[in-house]
Amino acid sequence: MNLVFLGPPGAGKGTIATLAKDRLGILHISTGDLFREAINTGTPLGIKVKAILASGELVPDSVTIDMVNERLEKKDTAKGFILDGFPRTIAQADALNEMKTIDHVINFELDRDTIVLRLSGRRMCKSTGRIYHVMYNPPKVEGIDDETGETLIQRPDDKEEAIVNRLAVYERQTAPLIQYYREKGLLRDIDAAGAPDRVLEAMLKVL
Ligand code: ADP
Ligand code: AMP
Repeated sequence: MNLVFLGPPGAGKGTIATLAKDRLGILHISTGDLFREAINTGTPLGIKVKAILASGELVPDSVTIDMVNERLEKKDTAKGFILDGFPRTIAQADALNEMKTIDHVINFELDRDTIVLRLSGRRMCKSTGRIYHVMYNPPKVEGIDDETGETLIQRPDDKEEAIVNRLAVYERQTAPLIQYYREKGLLRDIDAAGAPDRVLEAMLKVL
């Protein structure tokens, strides 16, 4: 099964994908994680996109599409995948149509105040990408990753100015995909406001 997770930043796409990939036995491919990995390891791609990610703008379509195309060409995608954070523009969605067949697009719906609360409290482990929240999903020891013992970080794009920009970018460039996929009969709306296990169950029911 090939899924796209669509929704504003902070809606819980990465959190639910981490749970769903084990339940469904499919891959979790996050373009944000792929970019952050490139930044952490200092590849030419990472150097190119570092400032873009920090500002909350989108990486140019050509760069993003090439990266996803390369990832989806690998054999392991035959078992199915969740695309988390891609596509984010109509041009990316058109490109995806040429790469793979998508079975369902899960549209995570969440109000703006909750989005801001989730993003401003998000913390992550830089090396593994594991996601926490200071209130909703705290680590066992404050500020420390449960498994690696590393100090958790706040993403540069989870600072207040970048959050505001990212929500505007979402409305302008990504929200039109809701109508795009609705017209194709692929859109499945889910209420993303409950606890993660409830959101997961709601999604599995819809599938
Ligand atoms: P996205 O991938 O859509 O940007 P994340 O999965 O990173 O969103 O979640 C954003 C923040 O909200 C994280 O700090 C995460 O721990 C928290 N979070 C995610 N899902 C829920 C939920 N259902 N209830 C409460 N907090 C959540
Ligand atoms: P995310 O982890 O999904 O919140 O993505 C973090 C950042 O990575 C975004 O704010 C963009 O700068 C960049 N990014 C991730 N996915 C895409 C995409 N599909 N198109 C363009 N930029 C992206």
